[in-house]
Amino acid sequence: VKFVYDFTEGNKDLKDLLGGKGANLAEMTNLGLPVPPGFTITTEACKVYLDSGDEPAALRDEVTAHLDALEAKMGKKLGQADDPLLVSVRSGAKFSMPGMMDTVLNIGLSDKSVQGLAKQSGDDRFAWDSYRRLIQMFGKTVLGVDGELFEDALEKAKQAKKVTVDTDLDAAELKKLVTKFKKIVKTEAGRDFPQDSREQMDLAIHAVFDSWNTDRAKLYRRQERIPGDLGTAVNVCSMVFGNLGPDSGTGVAFTRDPASGQQGVYGDYLQNAQGEDVVAGIRNTVPLAELEQLDKKSYDQLMQIMETLETHYKDLCDIEFTIERGQLWMLQTRVGKRTAGAAFRIATQLVDQGLIDEAEALQRVNGAQLAQLMFPRFDEDAKVEQLGRGIAASPGAAVGKAVFDSYTAIKWSRSGEKVILIRRETNPDDLDGMIAAEGILTSRGGKTSHAAVVARGMGKTCVCGAEDLEVDTKRRRLTVNGHVVEEGDVVSIDGSTGKVYLGEVPVVPSPVVEYFEGRMHAGADDADELVKAVHRIMAYADRVRRLRVRANADNAEDALRARRFGAQGIGLCRTEHMFLGERRELVEHLILADTDEERENALKELLPLQKKDFIELFEAMDGLPVTVRLLDPPLHEFLPDITELSVRVALAESRKDHNENDLRLLQAVHRLHEQNPMLGLRGVRLGLVIPGLFTMQVRAIAEAAAERKNAKGDPRAEIMIPLVGTVQELEIVREEAEQVIADVERATGVHLKLALGTMIELPRAALTAGQIAEAAEFFSFGTNDLTQTVWGFSRDDVEASFFTAYLEKGIFGVSPFETIDKDGVGKLVRDAAAAGRATRPDLKLGVCGEHGGDPESVHFFHEVGLDYVSCSPFRIPVARLEAGRAAS
Ligand code: PEP
Ligand code: MG
Repeated sequence: VKFVYDFTEGNKDLKDLLGGKGANLAEMTNLGLPVPPGFTITTEACKVYLDSGDEPAALRDEVTAHLDALEAKMGKKLGQADDPLLVSVRSGAKFSMPGMMDTVLNIGLSDKSVQGLAKQSGDDRFAWDSYRRLIQMFGKTVLGVDGELFEDALEKAKQAKKVTVDTDLDAAELKKLVTKFKKIVKTEAGRDFPQDSREQMDLAIHAVFDSWNTDRAKLYRRQERIPGDLGTAVNVCSMVFGNLGPDSGTGVAFTRDPASGQQGVYGDYLQNAQGEDVVAGIRNTVPLAELEQLDKKSYDQLMQIMETLETHYKDLCDIEFTIERGQLWMLQTRVGKRTAGAAFRIATQLVDQGLIDEAEALQRVNGAQLAQLMFPRFDEDAKVEQLGRGIAASPGAAVGKAVFDSYTAIKWSRSGEKVILIRRETNPDDLDGMIAAEGILTSRGGKTSHAAVVARGMGKTCVCGAEDLEVDTKRRRLTVNGHVVEEGDVVSIDGSTGKVYLGEVPVVPSPVVEYFEGRMHAGADDADELVKAVHRIMAYADRVRRLRVRANADNAEDALRARRFGAQGIGLCRTEHMFLGERRELVEHLILADTDEERENALKELLPLQKKDFIELFEAMDGLPVTVRLLDPPLHEFLPDITELSVRVALAESRKDHNENDLRLLQAVHRLHEQNPMLGLRGVRLGLVIPGLFTMQVRAIAEAAAERKNAKGDPRAEIMIPLVGTVQELEIVREEAEQVIADVERATGVHLKLALGTMIELPRAALTAGQIAEAAEFFSFGTNDLTQTVWGFSRDDVEASFFTAYLEKGIFGVSPFETIDKDGVGKLVRDAAAAGRATRPDLKLGVCGEHGGDPESVHFFHEVGLDYVSCSPFRIPVARLEAGRAAS
């Protein structure tokens, strides 16, 4: 195998091997764009290193050969005393992990070659500044020295000179700083800063490999669901310098606005600065448009390159560039991150520009982005007290208590508080706090600052660079225009406008929800651009998807909303939700019944109530299927809590005040108490042991359907039996149900076509699906219980108990209750679907567990050939979109 690729050898499709940065540097090189020469060490080499603790045997020679070629091309040798070739060593994984991994610049400088660089550049100050940066970066990232020690020494040097920016330090001072930095390295790392350039390079390469497994990189990957075994590539690139004076500089740019998708000039530029200064937000940048005045030639060239890149990648790109004494160099490009709204808008803009077709547009957006667009926004008419305004970095409306450090953010959010993390600027150490917070507010840095980039990636609300805000993290307060915000005071931030408010601002629904609700029309002239884009993409998804989308709903209101959101029926009506509130008492009567007569009376009372519910539901879903599930939960759920009731009875006893009903209740509670109720008397088992319960429900459904038919409606009820483990259970219930239906048909003279089916939510049901299909006209996979029973995880307890440990140990990247476990639970679904259809080719198949609205799971259900997914009303648009993406 080949472990090293020259930039001229790769291309953009080799991201697995060369990482995103390496692949795109190669692509730009081959497009003829000005990229400083260099080479990429593959992720394969990294994997070998991480697995074995040592680099692959062949790597050293391959690196030597590529370095020789690079030196020949540049006409100088790495670290050459009189004119050194300098290189950067940068990480670059397949998926971008902003600020997560390590970079070392200026490799090749030493006590000797710094002199050569000074002579060649004619700039002593520059040479010594470059050397001190190398020792600092190398010391911190390669040798593990605490970075603050260098920062403090630099700060002291500036104070001694009474200057505030490092560019005001002259060569002599920087030279002294180099001596100081080397001392720090020696004391802290216990070794000298290496003078041998190749050693510098090799150590830096290993440090980049190692950086794949730092805690913060692992955390980021978990958050972003990036697999842990990909490894990173390493890019070794000849250095170009943005810090060679006012005709040099460095910047970042987007080919379009990553917040709105608008075409134009977006970016930041920093004169006389090197690489990381811009992203770190250390000095204040100027808008990219100002580069036109500073250096028209480079500006024009940059604009042209940006156009080339957009047409070539057919997408929004972000780029990093450096200008060295009037010569423009491209240091990086990639398809840029964008806000959810921009993703939809850009996708349709690119279709209109003829760059991509609709099928491709559908792949450019996803359900998570759509879900994000359905979050509410701040009420524009609310009375508000605006504190200040920053840059709209990541949209959304976030309200919470002000906290000024990540530790507090985590602590408070764990105790259930909503918090806004306020920092001067964030860095990778703040990641945990950013995850815990509702939103992030910074006083420094632009759209490309760490806070902005990471928040956009996480879909978190973020306002950055609110410069009026004085953030004092030590005293935990923020001052702005005479206002003081202390830790714990409530603030509201609007990531779509950049506005920051004091107190809690009320929120209003998103325009996308208004559109789905039918309160805003995409066709109207003044329709929101975003709504138009969403409308077009949804229409396309609906056109191509095979999966139908139904709703989990058990009342008319939810059913109507689901319908507006595009539901094609109800996939799960949980009838137990109809037995809450005042009706609970009727269920109590049923449970307490000692005689047949008492029980029948209780059922008789419940019947008309159930029937009324069903009539409303069938009317709301007229013409569309409604799957009604017979009662499922253990009966004790309808009774008072055992401890509370025991206390109540004991207290009454002590007062000699006997309450006959409470006593009977307590007996019943004891009788029904189970160690493991989720595996106990529930689902079909209830129907089999409580005479008349299921038949009452079937009767209510049948009578409701008959009534709807008589009212010229089109009810399409399906009756579903939960928690079946064997076909015999289903056969018994089925027979009884058929008799009741026949009864009702006879009595009303209405012919009812009621389908009878079952849930597949026990492993045994899945394993015997072929037999069960003999008695079922449809299956609906209850993947909540199926996950619970296949894994042996209690669905109500695990998330709070050991899941964190499992996630941390990487046993799974995401809870199997959230995204279907394809290998285990998914395999049962796949096999049961096939076995069921083998018995009954027209068997209808759906899923109604939480997974029905989860993007990744929807793709899986498409793949295994289900007919529909069913999810909560608000997730219906997401499921439609993902079903379309799965099919196209
Ligand atoms: C299921 O188990 O997946 C299901 C939909 O039923 P419930 O969540 O009501 O147990
Ligand atoms: Mg279930």
